[in-house]
Amino acid sequence: MDRWYGGIEVGGTKVVCAVGRGPAEVRDEVRFPTTTPEETIGRAIAFFQVQQAAGVALAAVGIGSFGPVDLDSGSPTWGTITATPKPQWSNADLAGRIGRALGVPAGFDTDVNAAALGEWRWGAAQGLDNFIYLTIGTGIGGGGMASGRLVHGLVHPEMGHIRLPHDHAADPYPGRCPFHGDCLEGLASGPAMEARWGQPAETLPADHPAWELEAHYLALALVNFICILSPQQIILGGGVMNQPQLFPLVRHKVLALLNNYIQAPAILEEIDRYVVPPGLGNRAGVLGAIALAQDIAPDKPPGGFDPPGGYL
Ligand code: ADP
Ligand code: ZN
Repeated sequence: MDRWYGGIEVGGTKVVCAVGRGPAEVRDEVRFPTTTPEETIGRAIAFFQVQQAAGVALAAVGIGSFGPVDLDSGSPTWGTITATPKPQWSNADLAGRIGRALGVPAGFDTDVNAAALGEWRWGAAQGLDNFIYLTIGTGIGGGGMASGRLVHGLVHPEMGHIRLPHDHAADPYPGRCPFHGDCLEGLASGPAMEARWGQPAETLPADHPAWELEAHYLALALVNFICILSPQQIILGGGVMNQPQLFPLVRHKVLALLNNYIQAPAILEEIDRYVVPPGLGNRAGVLGAIALAQDIAPDKPPGGFDPPGGYL
């Protein structure tokens, strides 16, 4: 049977929807801005309904969303965004509503776990059991796999909200996280860069000191994640990482901060392959959402990843 899968990446700034089976088989894709939940979710549903009306047999839909989200399959609020500072989005129901509207099972995870799953299946993390995927965009978030499974836990990791040393003399910007001020996201997200420098990050020239400072905060965070999780690879995605000059800066600072303590050739000799952009580029999230859909579809394709506890 001609079965297709829907993927939805819900970001703080934009949404990407696609119908496909993998990177080489995407039959339709759309991007639009994240506005109100009503309008945004309605637009996503409409995209897939048009496909269904044209005869596309959707077997399941997968959703990777900015958080915090409820991933507890036993919870009455599973599939919703919980207490987000993003206006109007608190308690927005994504998975239940979209699954019902399309009449298919819905898989649900964080945007970064979805992207990690996509990278594991088709991108930079193929064959790895332990790795992390970070997005540096409207917010900062991290997901990934530990021992071959997507990391969930009590709620889900919140790698964007770790605390870092903040030298107020060198960087007087106080940070913009509504919960913590100068956590990683408060200091280094795209909107934090825009607030600190008075112009959108994408308009800052490649030799602007903003990038050195950004790389400093990202490297501090990466060193913490390396020490805590011992990942085999770190994938850095999200809008801010569209600046290619950031990668060598971050790698250099990671090596300097670790100071030869972790004796792993992957870090000491092959840092260029250790801290990497997504193999799937800016489609990691939406392709990962398609992978989530494949894994919860009633008759999933061979070789699929078994999500612990399921997603329904
Ligand atoms: P979302 O958070 O919705 O997934 P993105 O990952 O694209 O979306 O993140 C949006 C943020 O990334 C914005 O703050 C924007 O200023 C920043 N950004 C987008 N493109 C670039 C770029 N080329 N260089 C630097 N920053 C960028
Ligand atoms: Zn925070």
